[in-house]
Amino acid sequence: MLAESLLTRLRDALGDDRVLTSDEDVADRRHDYWVLSHLQAWRGTFDDRPGAVVRPRSTADVQAVVRLAAETGTAVVPFGLGSGVCGGIRPDQGMLLADLSSMDRIRNIDDVNLVASFDAGVNGLVAEEAVAERGLTIGHWPQSIALSTVGGWVSTRAAGQFSTAYGNIEDMVYALEVVLPDGTLVELGRAPRAAAGPDLRHIFLGAEGTFGIITGVTLALHRQPEARTWRAFHTPSLAAGLDAQRRIMQAGWKPPVMRQYDAREARRNFKPWSTEGQGMLLMAHEGPAVRVDAEVAAVDDLAASCELTRADDEVGPHWMENRNHVPSWEEFFEQGLVVDTIEVSGPWTAVEAIYDAVLADVGALNGVVAVSAHSSHAYRTGVNLYFTFASAGDAADLEAAYLACWHAVMEATARHGGGVAHHHGIGRVRRPYLVHDLGEAGVDLLRTLRGAVDPQGIMNPGNLIPDA
Ligand SMILES: Cc1cc2nc3c(=O)[nH]c(=O)nc-3n(C[C@H](O)[C@H](O)[C@H](O)COP(=O)(O)OP(=O)(O)OC[C@H]3O[C@@H](n4cnc5c(N)ncnc54)[C@H](O)[C@@H]3O)c2cc1C
Repeated sequence: MLAESLLTRLRDALGDDRVLTSDEDVADRRHDYWVLSHLQAWRGTFDDRPGAVVRPRSTADVQAVVRLAAETGTAVVPFGLGSGVCGGIRPDQGMLLADLSSMDRIRNIDDVNLVASFDAGVNGLVAEEAVAERGLTIGHWPQSIALSTVGGWVSTRAAGQFSTAYGNIEDMVYALEVVLPDGTLVELGRAPRAAAGPDLRHIFLGAEGTFGIITGVTLALHRQPEARTWRAFHTPSLAAGLDAQRRIMQAGWKPPVMRQYDAREARRNFKPWSTEGQGMLLMAHEGPAVRVDAEVAAVDDLAASCELTRADDEVGPHWMENRNHVPSWEEFFEQGLVVDTIEVSGPWTAVEAIYDAVLADVGALNGVVAVSAHSSHAYRTGVNLYFTFASAGDAADLEAAYLACWHAVMEATARHGGGVAHHHGIGRVRRPYLVHDLGEAGVDLLRTLRGAVDPQGIMNPGNLIPDA
């Protein structure tokens, strides 16, 4: 429980209506979109909540909250819109939850230098629409664009669906404004590039609220593309489709959307256009019209050389139209199912082995009724895999079944040389597996950095960084 004296001081600093304590007011900020939290809440085995929700309106408000928290040794959990899927938000009664969604100002759009600055709590779609009015785009289109904040994107190292050309969030961040765990304000990023020591912005990219609260984000923009067109191909095997993707990327072409579905997912997502036993590779091509034409011609040749055959180009617009539909977790629980997605990545030489091992290991688990994958983010050096699994059973057994699936995916990925977290972050579900990416020494270094920045450990404890 939080001390009444702290709540009084918070109300004095922010205003009465900015400090919420009733069950009703805090109910929808008790956790993020992590399946396990939803499963436990649905089963009635998770009923924790933050001691209070504070709703700062400005950077000065955030500093006031953090200073009071530091003075009283109170933990603070930053909250954007709660669309994280890894359990980054699970505050208890002794913690404050800092809901940043009232910090929703578009600070500046500069269409000469192509940068825009936002309060960290600006909704992603609002940010994109604001720059779109000026003929610009951020180019960051996570499936959750309307459910997430600009500050949340940075905090989780997010990736958008058009990342293969526009990059991931770390390629877009120009400057950050952050309140450190003692209330100090730090502003990082002044020019398009710097050789001014280590890039400190990266301490906060992916910190998931453990190093401070991001209050302002400046993103580099693009002018909207002159042309866009779509291509789709049937892939006779996973290997053939991956080979085509690798050749396209390594030749220097950059279709912003490049997604390869295994045969099971091709059938599930594109039934009218799919061919039995074959996967599907779909691509968007964007940019100056002459480059789009050249890219399409080159991609057609490369695909044919890998024995891919043309599919109906309607597949791309169909995907575009339906791409953001997401059923609620509870719909699955009601049917006796737990379903989740897990994104990993690997170099080109490892990715097929990762796919095979995950399908074998997860498929062998009791209760698993489906496991499949697609890739959605390609690089010169490799590609991600985005697995979907479903496990069926009695409500009481779903939690153990869920964790077993996660364990199998994490271990198979690491065993074959992949990275265990492509873009959803670590949160609580991947915390035990962070060591696979960082090694013991890397995890120790992260703990050391955290100890230096936040010696009291008040920023989002229990998240991201494994206990020593
Ligand atoms: C349907 C759906 C689709 C999704 N699609 C994608 C996708 O395509 N690509 C992708 O990358 N992710 C995706 N996600 C995951 C999620 O949307 C992203 O992780 C997103 O970046 C989280 O933003 P948020 O504002 O909701 O953050 P929250 O969920 O509120 O917070 C996420 C983490 O960041 C911390 N945090 C939030 N704001 C701040 C801040 N200002 N300062 C410091 N720490 C902060 C929190 O403490 C927490 O640990 C999807 C999620 C859903 C539910």
